[in-house]
Amino acid sequence: MALAQTECQSSVMNSPPAAVESGPTAVLGPWRKVRSGVYVAVAEPESVNLGLIVGTDRALLIDTGSSPAQGRAVRDSIADVTDHPLAAVVVTHWHYDHAFGLAAFSDVPRIAHESVHIRLSSADAVADARRLGVDPDDLLQPTRNIAVATAIDLGDRRVEIAHLGRGHTDGDLVVVVPDADVLFAGDLIESAGPPSFGQDSVPDEWPATVDSVIGLMTAATLAVPGHGEPVDREFVFEQRGRIAAEAAARGRSAGRELPLVSEPDLTGRRSPPTAPDPGLEV
Ligand SMILES: [Zn+2]
Repeated sequence: MALAQTECQSSVMNSPPAAVESGPTAVLGPWRKVRSGVYVAVAEPESVNLGLIVGTDRALLIDTGSSPAQGRAVRDSIADVTDHPLAAVVVTHWHYDHAFGLAAFSDVPRIAHESVHIRLSSADAVADARRLGVDPDDLLQPTRNIAVATAIDLGDRRVEIAHLGRGHTDGDLVVVVPDADVLFAGDLIESAGPPSFGQDSVPDEWPATVDSVIGLMTAATLAVPGHGEPVDREFVFEQRGRIAAEAAARGRSAGRELPLVSEPDLTGRRSPPTAPDPGLEV
C-alpha cells in the first residue's frame, strides 16, 4: 500500500519549484454549520478545511488559507456567520495552505505550536511563498507559541488546543470543542485522500499521535480533517492503521527498522538505546 503525497503541499515534499504556479483560483466556499456554533468552509485550490467556532462573546478561527489575500477573504467571510470579534486564530500546522493567511490577522492573537515560527521563516516556506507569488516578507508569524496545550474562552464555551505529538509535521495541533463534541484534526487525518507524508513528517510517531486523537473521541464525536468531509471515530481508527502500515513500510525501505526486542549481548546487558531524535531546537 502506498500513501501518496496529496493536498497539503510544501516545497519540502516536492522537487524544487519552478515559476509561480498558475493553478486553480483561490476560491473560498461558504461557511457550513456542522454542529451548533461550529462551521467549516473549504478554501481552494488546496481544498483545505477552515473552522469557525462561535461563542456568545467571541469566535475562534482555525486555519487561514493559502495566501495573505485568501486570509483577507476568510476574514471578510466571518461576517456572514457572526459579528463577534475573533478571540484568536489558530493554525493546525505550518504548511502554506493552513498558515499563509495568517497575514490577514495582524491585530488578532495568532496561536501555533512553538515549532511553527521556525518553519515559517525557513527556506522551505520562502520557496513556497515565491512559488505561489506571495512576497515572503508579507507572511506573518504566530504571536502565541504553545508547547503542549492552551484553552480559549469564547463566552459560553471553551475551546481546547493541544499538541498531542508529532505526525504529519513536528508541530501539529488539534482543536477540541467539548460542548459540541467536535475535534479539528488538521492534516493528522485526511478524508479527501490518503494522509500526506512529507519530508517534514514524523512517520514513526504519527500512529501514537492519532491514538491520542482517538482517545479524545467518542462514538458521537465529529472529527474535521484537514482536507475532506468530517469523519467519525471508526474512520480515524481505520486511518490510524493505514498510517502505521505506511510508517512501517517507510522504515523498512529506509533500512531503519529495528528489531522488536533488542538482543542481549554476551554479558546479558542490552545494547544501548539509539540516540533520540533531537527534533527542532526552539
Ligand atoms: Zn499539511
